[in-house]
Amino acid sequence: MLKNKKGLLVLTLFLTFSLALTAGAQAEVKNMIVLIGDGLGQGQIDMARYMSEDKDGQLELMQLPNIGMMMTSSTQGVPDSAAAGTAMATGHKTKNGMVGMSPNGAELDSILDYAETLNKSTGIISTNKVTDATPAAFSVSAKSRDNEVAIAKAILNNDVDVVLGGGADEFTEEEDVVAQAQDMGYDYVTNQNELANAQASNNKLLGLFNDSYMNYKLDRDDLNSKEPSLKEMTKKAVNILSRNENGFFLMSEGARIDHAAHAADIPGVVAETLEFDETVEYAVNWAKKNGNTMVVVVADHETMGFSVTEPINKEALMNIEVSPEYMAGQMVEKEGEPGMTIESIKDVFAEYANVEMTDKEAKEFNQSIINNEGNMYYQYMIGWEIGSVIASEYSAGVLPADIRADSSTGGHTLNSVPIFAFGPESNEFNDVLDNTEFHQVLFDAFKPGN
Ligand SMILES: [Zn+2]
Repeated sequence: MLKNKKGLLVLTLFLTFSLALTAGAQAEVKNMIVLIGDGLGQGQIDMARYMSEDKDGQLELMQLPNIGMMMTSSTQGVPDSAAAGTAMATGHKTKNGMVGMSPNGAELDSILDYAETLNKSTGIISTNKVTDATPAAFSVSAKSRDNEVAIAKAILNNDVDVVLGGGADEFTEEEDVVAQAQDMGYDYVTNQNELANAQASNNKLLGLFNDSYMNYKLDRDDLNSKEPSLKEMTKKAVNILSRNENGFFLMSEGARIDHAAHAADIPGVVAETLEFDETVEYAVNWAKKNGNTMVVVVADHETMGFSVTEPINKEALMNIEVSPEYMAGQMVEKEGEPGMTIESIKDVFAEYANVEMTDKEAKEFNQSIINNEGNMYYQYMIGWEIGSVIASEYSAGVLPADIRADSSTGGHTLNSVPIFAFGPESNEFNDVLDNTEFHQVLFDAFKPGN
């Protein structure tokens, strides 16, 4: 009798232990998809939610079961994307401008590097150049984010399997990095169609869809763009990376949310955020079917202090169909002196934004696009000034242009950003985390036996 009881106890303990082990194995995070909306603060999310009629006040990302908050500072306070991405990818704060490196120049390993040690496949995607700050922070170590040809080569040498986004110039102008990639076994694609048909028989794919940044969503029709969407890139990457039975790590960035936010471009932020949100929906649906995939949706920092104000003119803003940068390209430069013709300034504001300007206002605008040395700004920065005029005209909540001008990051803020997460271990995000602690959650989720 005693013997039997003891036997039963042993059996019970054994079963409990096995169940715990099984549960542990089930909870293991095999795949990780990190979706970063650059500059996607709560204000940008609420702007997209409020301004888009067909969303019924909710975005897909808001449906995820686990929610947290992340503080975003670099060692200098308000971060740029390089330092912010480095904290999230490596768990170490650094100086603005540095990627994957400590302030004293020591190379830091990222969560992507860790995934490689576990024999997982890895991928980076960005609607920015793939050599820009956020994707670089996950895949390379560099003292300056500006040496982008070196970053292009470092990404390939770090054996990142799928690399998709903009930035073809960095791979072609100084030296033929594309040819080097092909020698290393990468398939190479340059448009939506080629991406859809890519086989990646070596499980390696390089896709560069623009010489510089990928186009704003709002401008794609006008520019006759042949680029894939963020969702299409993410889908292709998941298809290729999930061939590895050891799993994968993927970072996919909706980068132009930040760019539109710098330009105080409300319709642009809405369009880019909605495209990012479609990507979230795709990733979560894939993860639901897969069972051991963690999906985490987050920003690196907030940009321009967005808020939905009470007097905001929703209709006028949502009638705007192109980016301020595109509008800048439609203005006509003066001959023999810096600036745009008063006529073309007035025409562009009227045609694309329904803003009527007096001659005096057009002259003031012209002053705002010429720097202290008397040179006219680059097109994207003329876009910033155009966006600020429009945002002010229609009472949108954004930082004023003069505060942006005094900011080394061009208008980033220290506002904390929300985290939305799905899948095994994602309850670990239900917390107020520093950006370095965000890294720790990712790291722990991949730790074998966790
Ligand atoms: Zn930015």
